[in-house]
Amino acid sequence: MRVERIALRGWRNYEWESVSFSPDTNVITGSNAQGKTNLLEAVYMLAAGRSFRTRFDRELVGFDYPEAELLADVCAHGRSQTIRITLRPGQPKKILVNGVKKTAAELAGTFNVVLFCPDDLELIKEGAAVRRRLLDNAVSQIRPKYAELLAEFNRLYEHKTRILKDWRDKPSLLDTLDEFSDALGRVSAQLIRYRAAFTQRLGEAAAPIHREFSGEGEELSLRYCTVSTVKDPFAPAREIYYQICEHQERHRQAEIDSGQCLTGAHKDDVEIFINGRSARSFASQGQTRTAALSLKLAEREIFLDETGEYPVLLLDDVLSELDEGRQAFVLNRIGGGQTLISCCEDEGISKRTGGKVFFVEKGRVR
Ligand code: ATP
Ligand code: MG
Repeated sequence: MRVERIALRGWRNYEWESVSFSPDTNVITGSNAQGKTNLLEAVYMLAAGRSFRTRFDRELVGFDYPEAELLADVCAHGRSQTIRITLRPGQPKKILVNGVKKTAAELAGTFNVVLFCPDDLELIKEGAAVRRRLLDNAVSQIRPKYAELLAEFNRLYEHKTRILKDWRDKPSLLDTLDEFSDALGRVSAQLIRYRAAFTQRLGEAAAPIHREFSGEGEELSLRYCTVSTVKDPFAPAREIYYQICEHQERHRQAEIDSGQCLTGAHKDDVEIFINGRSARSFASQGQTRTAALSLKLAEREIFLDETGEYPVLLLDDVLSELDEGRQAFVLNRIGGGQTLISCCEDEGISKRTGGKVFFVEKGRVR
């Protein structure tokens, strides 16, 4: 897959700009705060229908502009497609693929990207939220149904949390608590199955990459962790649902007392092991970076497997954070697909990649 051309109008700090990319490596360089990440964010939007930096589309619209529009020619599934996304604060976003209206979830079936940004370097050591985001972003792209379930989950979770927080002021709210808990349990059961299956696949794809990358034959493995009463996350959804209900019943009073939602897929995590030991507890800085990179490159391989094409790889400011050995490993591995790399003014990266170089200054691209 590749993005051939993108035009940005009123997008972040871009008043009006159009960029044609190379099908291989593209290096986007320039000083700080010029629009490098904003450009990558626009390409990400074409695949995900949302930003990777904010939940609020209105933040994507340039200050002083009434709306933002992206118009892109992409090549995916062996044909050229046009994606147009219009954001107008206060209105639902408008997404057109070849002139036909689509939802954000449907975009995933059109065009895919894998993003690697500095936050991802925290995949191993930081809290579970970063790892859940990796699963959610990846599975949403290959399984549009998952994106719908996740949106439903977030809606139910927010509603239930509001009940648990506000019932003291308005006790009648508790009348609907069990209904929301039940719905949350049902959706959680489905999310858990998808996530467990993807975690298994990710582990299988990441292990050989990490083995080669570490040069030491290190073994990377993953384990999916969820609600404690769920014995087998691969079991049929109905079975998982019953086991979640069991947890829910035991924790109902604690939820009411603490004002927090204690049962559901929102606390899930992926445990990462290197040579059988918890990477979160024991990995060195170098091992941590190697493992994070292996997971991201594995994600790219899974997309290839699913769609027959490499997704567009977006590397936002990460290459400069890696030592030369790791940079070389990444650059050797990314052949076969299109890559957009953002980095600060020439750190030698543009020369090393041999890619097409774009210079960004104040929302203009040369
Ligand atoms: P760095 O090297 O520091 O990461 P960058 O080139 O990646 O810099 P961007 O994140 O792309 O920088 O941001 C470029 C500029 O766009 C920043 O000054 C930012 O404040 C500005 N900006 C962000 N959102 C908007 C918006 N909605 N309207 C106008 N400008 C915005
Ligand atoms: Mg940036």
